[in-house]
Amino acid sequence: MIDRTTKDKILAATRIEEVVGDFIALKRRGANWWGICPFHQDKRPSLAVSPSKGIFKCFACGESGNAVSFVMKHEHLTYAEALKYLAKKYHIEVVEKEETPEEIASRLKHESLLVVSEFAQKYFQDVLWNDEQGRAIGLSYFHERKFTDETIRKFGLGYTPTRPHTLIKDATAKGYKEEYLVDAGLCIRREDGSVVDKFYDRVMFPIYSISGRVIAFGGRTLKSDKSVAKYVNTAGTEIYNKSESLYGIFQAKNAIIKADKCILVEGYADVISMHQQGIQNVVASSGTSLTIGQIRLIKRFTSNITIIYDGDAAGIKAAVRGTDLVLEEGLNVRIVVLPPEDDPDTFAQARSTTEILEYLAENERDFISFKSDLAETDMAADPLSRSKLINDIIGSIAVVPDAILRKEYVEMVAERFRQSDADILAKITAIRDEKKRQTQLRERSLEAQLPPAVSQETSAAEDFGLEPVSESYVQPEPVETNPYVITNPLLAVQEKELTDYLLRFGSYPLHFEKDMLYGAMPAERIDVETYIREALRDDDIVFANRLYRELFDEYYAFAATLPQEMEIRERQGAIARHFANLENQTLLRESLNLAFDDQELTVKVYRDTLEPEEQRLGDTVPKSMILYKLRITEQHCSDLSAQISAAQRDGDDATLRDLVQRLSLLNKVKLQFSKELKRL
Ligand SMILES: [Zn+2]
Repeated sequence: MIDRTTKDKILAATRIEEVVGDFIALKRRGANWWGICPFHQDKRPSLAVSPSKGIFKCFACGESGNAVSFVMKHEHLTYAEALKYLAKKYHIEVVEKEETPEEIASRLKHESLLVVSEFAQKYFQDVLWNDEQGRAIGLSYFHERKFTDETIRKFGLGYTPTRPHTLIKDATAKGYKEEYLVDAGLCIRREDGSVVDKFYDRVMFPIYSISGRVIAFGGRTLKSDKSVAKYVNTAGTEIYNKSESLYGIFQAKNAIIKADKCILVEGYADVISMHQQGIQNVVASSGTSLTIGQIRLIKRFTSNITIIYDGDAAGIKAAVRGTDLVLEEGLNVRIVVLPPEDDPDTFAQARSTTEILEYLAENERDFISFKSDLAETDMAADPLSRSKLINDIIGSIAVVPDAILRKEYVEMVAERFRQSDADILAKITAIRDEKKRQTQLRERSLEAQLPPAVSQETSAAEDFGLEPVSESYVQPEPVETNPYVITNPLLAVQEKELTDYLLRFGSYPLHFEKDMLYGAMPAERIDVETYIREALRDDDIVFANRLYRELFDEYYAFAATLPQEMEIRERQGAIARHFANLENQTLLRESLNLAFDDQELTVKVYRDTLEPEEQRLGDTVPKSMILYKLRITEQHCSDLSAQISAAQRDGDDATLRDLVQRLSLLNKVKLQFSKELKRL
C-alpha cells in the first residue's frame, strides 16, 4: 500500500552497507564490504555487500538480494513492512496510496494503540526502576527469581503500583486519549463512564509482536491472597490476537532459525529463565494450549518443535493433548518431561546451560515413544486400555501430513506393540478417508451457503474408540508448490544463459565476424536484446520455464520504458537498478545470481582480461541461441520417437508414415544446428 514515489524515494535513500551494517559487522575489502552471514552458521566472513550494485550475496549459503530483501529475511517482515522499516531509518514519510477514509482512520487507530501500549510499557518500566514501591516490591521480586538487571531490561519488565488509576492519570496528563487506553486493553470504562486502570499492584510482562512492538501485557500479582487472580492478561484487542501470538517470539526468532528448533514452555518466567541461561530459542503460549495460529507462527522459522512439560500429572496430560495439532501442521514434535519437582523456571535456574542442554538431549522423545511409555505402566494389567492406547497413537499418526513419515511411525508402532503393519495402515486409511469425507461435506455445505451440517453418523474414528473428529481435524491439507520450480531442466540451462546475456549485456552491440545462421540481420547495429528477441520470435519460441520467461518479459517491459538515445553503460545501469529492486523475491534472487556472478573466483577472469566478454558477444550469444534451438529440436525428436513407437504398437501405418517424415526433417535441422555450432 506504499505509493510508487515513496517507494522510489526509500530505495534511492537506502545505502545497503548501512542497512546490513546495522545487523552485522562489515569490513571493507576492495570495492565490497564483507561480514559474517547471519543466514547460516559461519565463522568466516562469506557475505559480500556491493554498495555500487546495492546488493548482497553470501558465497557460502547463496543467500542474496537487495537491502529490502535483507531486512525482510533478517527481521521476517513482508515487503511493505521492510520498506517501512527503511523509511523510518532514513526519515522518509510514508504515503500510503489510495486509502479510503475508513482505512486511514483504522491505520491511525492501529498505530495509536501501539503508541499507548509502548507508553504503558515505558511507564511500568519506569515505576519498576525509579519508584520506591516499584523497587521494593517489583524489582526485588524479579531479583528473587534470579533475573539479572540485563534480563529485566531486555524483556522490558515493569511494575504497576497499588495506588489505583496511576496509569490513566499519567497518560491523559501527557495527552494520550482515554479511548485508546481502553481499546488497547490497558484501562477499563466503568458503567458510570469513569475510566480506571486494568492492571494494578502487579509485576508486568509486556508481550511483543514479531517485529518488536508492544501489543499486550501479562500482569502477575505478588499477593498470596487466593481471591486475587494470579495473572491478569490483556484480552483480545485490535492489535493483539492471543491465539496468534507467542510470548518471547521477538527475542527468540533468530535463535530459533539458527538452532532450527523452537522450544515451547508454559509461562513468561520459564521463557525468561531459559533465555538468561543462554537457551534463547524459547517461547511460551501464554497460558492457552497451542493454537493453529501459534503453530503456523513457529512454522515460519522452523519445522522442529520441542515441548517442555512439568513432570506432574496435569503437565503430562497437557502434553498428550498438545501434540496432535502440531503433528497435523506437519511439524516434528518432541516432548521433554521435566523431573517431577521442577517447572522450566526452577529447572533452568538450578542448572548450568550445559546441564540443561544435556537434559533436553537425553530426555527428548518423539511422540510415539512418549505416549507408549506413558501408558505401558498400567497397560499390562488392562487389555482394554492397551487397545485404547494403540488406537490413540494411531489417531495421532493419521493426522501427520507427510506420507513417508506416517509410514515410519506405523513401522515403529507395529514393532513395539507386535501388530501387523497392514492392520495399522488400514485403520489410518479409514481415519483419513473419514476426515476427507467430512471436509468435502463441509465444503459442499459451504458452497450451498448453508450452515455446516452436523454429522449424525458415528465416525470411523469413534469406531476405533477415539474421540470424535474435532473441528481442527478436518482442515484441508496445505498444498505448498513453488510456481517457479524448473519444469524443463533440459532447456533451463540455455534459458538461464540467454537470460544472463540479456541482463548483463542487453544494450551491447553484437559484432558479427562471420556470417551466421542467426547472424543474417541488417548490416547496421544490432544489440543483444534485439537479437535474442528476434531469434526467438522467428521460431515462435517462448521460454519453457516460468522463472526465465518472467525475467524475459520483465526485461522487455522495462526496456520499452527507457529513452531511445541512451549511452550503453547508463542504460545497463538503469536495467541493473530495476532488477535489483524487483518486488518479486524469486525473480530478484535469480537476477542477482546472474548479475553478481562468482567470476572473480574463476579462470574466466583471466581470459576476460585478455578479451572482455562484451567484445565476444557476436560469437557467444548466437552460439548460445543455436544451442538452445538444438536442445528444443532434440526434445521434439525424442517426443516424435515416442509417438512412433506407439504408432508401431498400434499398427497405425498412416500416422507412422507422417511421423517418420517429420522426424527425418527434424533430424536434418538438428544436423544443421550441430554443424553450425562446430563451425563457430
Ligand atoms: Zn550465508
